[in-house]
Amino acid sequence: WHLSRALPFTDDGAIVKWFGTNTDIDEQKQLARQKDDFLGIASHELKTPVTSVKAYAQVLGAMLTQEGEDKKAGMVMKMDAQLNRLTNLIGDLLDVTKINSGKILFNKTWFDVNAVVQDVVQDIQHTTNRHILVMDFEEAGQVYSDKERIGQVLTNLITNAIKYSPHANRVVIGTRREEDSVIVTVQDFGIGIPKEKLEKVFEQFYRVGGSNQHTFPGLGLGLYISNEIIRREGGKMWVESEEEKGSVFCFSLPVIKDVVTEN
Ligand code: ADP
Repeated sequence: WHLSRALPFTDDGAIVKWFGTNTDIDEQKQLARQKDDFLGIASHELKTPVTSVKAYAQVLGAMLTQEGEDKKAGMVMKMDAQLNRLTNLIGDLLDVTKINSGKILFNKTWFDVNAVVQDVVQDIQHTTNRHILVMDFEEAGQVYSDKERIGQVLTNLITNAIKYSPHANRVVIGTRREEDSVIVTVQDFGIGIPKEKLEKVFEQFYRVGGSNQHTFPGLGLGLYISNEIIRREGGKMWVESEEEKGSVFCFSLPVIKDVVTEN
């Protein structure tokens, strides 16, 4: 049946019915679903062997260190770092399929925003010598949200801030309270984003320099995932930026003011 593009006419030439649009949309939806299914299955299948190789690399690294084979242990540690990158990429692909199929789950608890931001900042600071992460905190309050997911969003924003500021060495992470929201900001002094591209950076697979942007590796998924997480947690994400000057990525989360605690 190839009715989809057929146009049945009456004798005087009027169109009786137009089948095209709906069918084309159905086809597009099916293709998008197939793409998501494929991404989901492929990333799931990739995850298991990578996890296993990573476990062997860690054991091997520890053995070599114990035997005083520092050079070899150093090489295995580099392998381990690359495996971390691979694990993160696979994790992003899995998250995208979960988001697009509406299957992303949130494990909500009460937590203090400043405590989580501080933990994430300290973790990332340990991985970089070149950049100083400056904390500029105000009393922000408690939110009811998924701690891990909010940590993931922050990690994305801070690692981007570092990645896209090759010639600056400072990133400022701030928190503040604004009415019924807590606002978290990540400011860098890096390459910035052209005005006309600002809204696009939250689209999946979008990268300002295109996919051939060799200088800065990435899939163009981190901001899409981050924005979707914040949106689904009742907040908003936005960016202000100027080329060659730097960017400020911000997100808000609703704060529940009067928490009634039972004694
Ligand atoms: P990735 O970094 O893997 O490409 P993201 O979704 O995190 O994917 O970001 C999308 C794009 O937005 C990036 O490719 C980059 O062009 C731009 N971008 C993100 N963060 C920054 C930043 N802090 N400074 C400048 N450009 C940025």
